[in-house]
Amino acid sequence: MEPQDIKPEITDPLVKKAVSLPDEKILFVGEVFNTDFEPHKGTFEWHNCDKCGEAVFAIGLRIVNGKYLCMPCSGYE
Ligand SMILES: [Zn+2]
Repeated sequence: MEPQDIKPEITDPLVKKAVSLPDEKILFVGEVFNTDFEPHKGTFEWHNCDKCGEAVFAIGLRIVNGKYLCMPCSGYE
């Protein structure tokens, strides 16, 4: 059977299904995309300084001899 011989009532549902598939695929990819771009868990990580007990964000911490120290306690100038 040639494609042009297929009746429209048979091909239309198939065409509609084919058209709908990309949207579902884009939606699925979008969900994965959003998951991948959640804020990184470590971005707001913080510890208490092992010397003075001050809560310090990871970006301001220094690890000295395996201890988390804030900048003043680590001797960092
Ligand atoms: Zn400290």
